Amino acid sequence: MFTAVEMAPRDPILGLNEQYAADGNPHKVNLGVGVYYDDNGKLPLLECVKAAEEDMMKTPSARGYLPIDGIAAYDNAVKGLVFGADSEPVTSGRVATVQAIGGTGGLKVGADFLKKLSPDATVLISDPSWENHRALFTSAGFKVESYPYYDAERRGVNFDGMLAALNAAAAGTIVVLHACCHNPTGYDITAAQWDQVVDVVKAKQLTAFLDMAYQGFGHGIAEDGAVIGKFVDAGLTFFVSTSFSKSFSLYGERVGALSVLCASKEEAGRVLSQLKIAIRTNYSNPPIHGGAVVAAVLNDPARRAVWEKELGEMRARIKAMRQKFVDGLKAAGVKEDMSFITTQIGMFSYSGLTKDQMVRLRNEFGVYGTDTGRMCVAALNSKNIDYVCQSVAKVM
Ligand code: PMP
Repeated sequence: MFTAVEMAPRDPILGLNEQYAADGNPHKVNLGVGVYYDDNGKLPLLECVKAAEEDMMKTPSARGYLPIDGIAAYDNAVKGLVFGADSEPVTSGRVATVQAIGGTGGLKVGADFLKKLSPDATVLISDPSWENHRALFTSAGFKVESYPYYDAERRGVNFDGMLAALNAAAAGTIVVLHACCHNPTGYDITAAQWDQVVDVVKAKQLTAFLDMAYQGFGHGIAEDGAVIGKFVDAGLTFFVSTSFSKSFSLYGERVGALSVLCASKEEAGRVLSQLKIAIRTNYSNPPIHGGAVVAAVLNDPARRAVWEKELGEMRARIKAMRQKFVDGLKAAGVKEDMSFITTQIGMFSYSGLTKDQMVRLRNEFGVYGTDTGRMCVAALNSKNIDYVCQSVAKVM
């Protein structure tokens, strides 16, 4: 039965992890995977999460099935975070939100729903993008193409190219946009450029699908969410996927959501009923624990304040590491101006290093990043930064 089954290519990031685990170099540093580590190189367990869990353990509860769309208090908290609790879309009831299995689950539920709604639409993703965007929309049955994004020469975004591609897209094209902290490049477009994107999405009748996997990792929770307000103000209906993997350091709990802004409350009811079918036929209903923790934090003002503080600390530490990286490279003798690293935002830096340089970094120094030159700056710390800078300097 399985004689004709071909071996699928290895996931490039997970493959890197395996290679890293097998590396005997005592100085090895893993900058491959997109995970935030604290200054001791440890995955943090946030205080707000710990406190919520301790409270939950005081009155352990039985585990029945959740509703298909998840915990109502969680879905409401997500709406508030994404659109603003007092915003018109939320108070008028025209947002349909479902709990999902991570940000990936939110994207997939949205993709499955869209496939039923617009089976012939093309999906446009940024070039480059998070690898799973292409695979996920392809597996939902869509033709996936890309719009220009990274400008290697100017070290930034090829915004003219991006805008031209959106302008040339057929009505109904689904455009996947990174709401903030673009993965993998670390380059976001400016507020003024977002205005232009919103104008084109509206004029060309495109369907925006905003992937918000890093809300709060860029400039702040509200600041990073501001882009959503621009689409709302333009009177558009659109999709937003949310991930709490990074912002709550709850990677393995798979906590995410999908929100669809509709034209009316009545429309949101119909959309929600279809999202539920996509969930029901995939995994029936979401798991409880992660969603319950996030709801317990977001819906309690004191705990939420702790979360905002902890998220702010993660954000500040990444920024400080970017600066140390730039300074350290200079001190290690790199002549090239590397200050672009501090203009990037979020967990990643497109370092501009070539594949050969990245391979040398791995093989000779045990410093692991992807072949595209992407490094996770959220895994740098005061103990490994000097070694990373010296290693990078040697391969440059
Ligand atoms: N979108 C982007 C841009 C991401 O970087 C990630 C996580 N690496 C996701 C979605 C998926 O998030 P999750 O792990 O919550 O499924």
